[in-house]
Amino acid sequence: MSAVRPLPGHPHIARHDGLLKVEGVSLDALAREHGTPLFVYSKQWMLDALAAYQRGFAGRNALVCYAMKANSSLGVLRVFAEAGCGFDIVSGGELARVLAIGAEPAKIIFSGVGKTRAEMGQALAAGIGCFNVESEAELEVLNEVALAAGQRARISIRINPNVDPKTHPYISTGLKGNKFGVAHDRAVAAYQHAARLPGLEVVGIDCHIGSQITDAGPYLDAMEKILDLVEAIEATGIRLHHIDFGGGLGIDYNGDTPPAADALWKQLLARIDARGFGDRQLMIEPGRSMVGNAGVCVTEVLYTKPGEDKNFCIIDAAMNDLPRPAMYQAFQAIVPVSERAGAASTYDVVGPICESGDWIGRDRALAVQSGDLLAVLSAGAYCMSMASNYNTRGRAAEVLVSGGGAKLIRRRETMGDQLASERF
Ligand SMILES: *Cc1c(COP(=O)(O)O)cnc(C)c1O
Repeated sequence: MSAVRPLPGHPHIARHDGLLKVEGVSLDALAREHGTPLFVYSKQWMLDALAAYQRGFAGRNALVCYAMKANSSLGVLRVFAEAGCGFDIVSGGELARVLAIGAEPAKIIFSGVGKTRAEMGQALAAGIGCFNVESEAELEVLNEVALAAGQRARISIRINPNVDPKTHPYISTGLKGNKFGVAHDRAVAAYQHAARLPGLEVVGIDCHIGSQITDAGPYLDAMEKILDLVEAIEATGIRLHHIDFGGGLGIDYNGDTPPAADALWKQLLARIDARGFGDRQLMIEPGRSMVGNAGVCVTEVLYTKPGEDKNFCIIDAAMNDLPRPAMYQAFQAIVPVSERAGAASTYDVVGPICESGDWIGRDRALAVQSGDLLAVLSAGAYCMSMASNYNTRGRAAEVLVSGGGAKLIRRRETMGDQLASERF
């Protein structure tokens, strides 16, 4: 009898006789085939994450627009497109990616504080569903670009509801001091102005208060403020067909307990219904909660190095592959791919990059030797999409696992790829 033990909080990852597998596929075998560092994603985890939102919206007119900046790899986008998702994009580059996999333009919404005229033109030509406008100045520019193209741009205005999502300051976006959206008290005037611009068609309202939110409270507060505004805006004769409530729902990195997507939406829909807006189309822009715990990064231990104050475990993945610890002091669990007998030591797990900020985990108890494989968990979101070539490191390969099979969705970047665009 073989012993199968799912990892707590990671239902699609389990130890089979001590060996770590994702959806039944051995990480050790994948690392031998494709090398390390290697990102491995569970398709089932992504579909389950989407299903939780869909359960929450059962019987409603709702559209889940995956915020693709969390993980914009084509193989991941295709999973969501095939499952019926729309996409939230933040650049012309993301638009090109999502069109490349055949996404429906009408289900694409375009967020971001600094859209260029060229990006606006590109999105109008593609026929996207909605621009989420983030400032009064952007309204003017979009109006001009749309008129020049002989089109009307469908818009919603992103409102900054001034609520504290109680997350890391770099991923709080709905507070007064943030660069995002239009201030709550400017909103009605901004909508009245937009409604008068001939190149624009007002269709909705949106907000996005932050990321890795683990408490329903800030969402409920933001929803009340948005619904107050829907009332005030509609009192001026402007009809809002959709309410886009953004993304931001957190995942379990280290025993975090965010509300389940369906339970959260049960509460939010009760508020929406109570205030008489249950007939509006609902849109959301989840990113992290759609992919975060679908992914792991498999990495090899290069050296262990005892130090005066600390022991270091030096791995072949680094801050260019896994930027979240360096950027946000984020925690990601690190576990051995194959359990090794013997006493654990406490290590700082670090990459090879020439920066003291290049750490992946601090004070981790591990029984490891050089040549061992480790899996950095919760690596589906904001890892590969933020990866860089710092230290002239090629970006990692990516594998999508489904139903016991594995598909390489991105080959490892070569030196040729890196040098191709340069001249001297
Ligand atoms: C980043 C972002 C999202 C997704 O946030 P998550 O925390 O990954 O769910 C959604 N909407 C906008 C406008 C964003 O900038």
